[in-house]
Amino acid sequence: TPFQPAAEDGADEREITAIITLHDITAIKRSEQMRADFVANASHELRTPLSTLVGFIETLRGPARDDADARDRFLAIMQEQAGRMSRLVMDLLSLSRIELDEHTHPTGETNVAQLVQSVVAMLELKAAARKITIKVQGGEDLPRVQGDEDQLTQVFQNLIDNAIKYGREQTDVVVTLERADAPPAPGATGIRARQASPQKVAGIKVSVTDKGDGIARTHLPRLTERFYRVDAARSRALGGTGLGLAIVKHIVNRHRGRLTIDSEVGKGSTFTVHLPGAEKPSEKAREKGEKS
Ligand code: ADP
Repeated sequence: TPFQPAAEDGADEREITAIITLHDITAIKRSEQMRADFVANASHELRTPLSTLVGFIETLRGPARDDADARDRFLAIMQEQAGRMSRLVMDLLSLSRIELDEHTHPTGETNVAQLVQSVVAMLELKAAARKITIKVQGGEDLPRVQGDEDQLTQVFQNLIDNAIKYGREQTDVVVTLERADAPPAPGATGIRARQASPQKVAGIKVSVTDKGDGIARTHLPRLTERFYRVDAARSRALGGTGLGLAIVKHIVNRHRGRLTIDSEVGKGSTFTVHLPGAEKPSEKAREKGEKS
């Protein structure tokens, strides 16, 4: 009959609509689940040192009241646990601040070579405690980067700090700075990329290499997730929060850069940050000239 094909068409349309709706719900559910997991993880990470603190306070006010030796030992542990909570809260605050302005582009112009030198100076003592030497290679004549100085400092601080923590004693951590092509804009079409490139100086690459245990391939895709650790007990013992690389990834994204990780178990790891250079001042001026 003439009505049948029309009815079939209608059924097809309804099916397609239903599929699209399901996809949307899945995405929303997944992001809700991730948020819930994050809050649960953060609470758990805070609760553990907090219970330790409460336990020691009770002991110090009760059974260990007059035991001077115990008091000193317990206070040292309490200080360590309070430090852990404080690092965690600082990292959580950093993450939420970075998330808030993730979709705005940073405006300052940064000399990354200088910034890396000051991070190295800050971490040299910590490296020396593990008999590790931090060596910086290259960095002369790098283009400036359009970036937030505090955030980029945090990136290299986290990467070099990890290299010191997870590197073997008595080895070198090598930081290499070099010119590179600008990283491809995430999700950009060929046309947009071509339009953007003439205003940009080529980019830079900064890599941090350690001689440590390395990371098995299976862990690499999840390494920048919040609270993801290869060995949670070891990370905690070294003072880690499990948030460092998540912070690095968010900041690098905000700077339209790329983070890549190369690692070989038993040998060590290289974390590379690839950032676009800032606009050339002369071209900025010319653009302004054209507009006025
Ligand atoms: P953490 O505070 O635990 O160091 P990060 O987010 O900085 O947290 O790193 C996540 C995990 O990635 C670490 O717990 C560790 O297992 C692994 N990792 C990070 N950097 C290195 C490295 N240079 N060598 C080996 N493993 C690393």
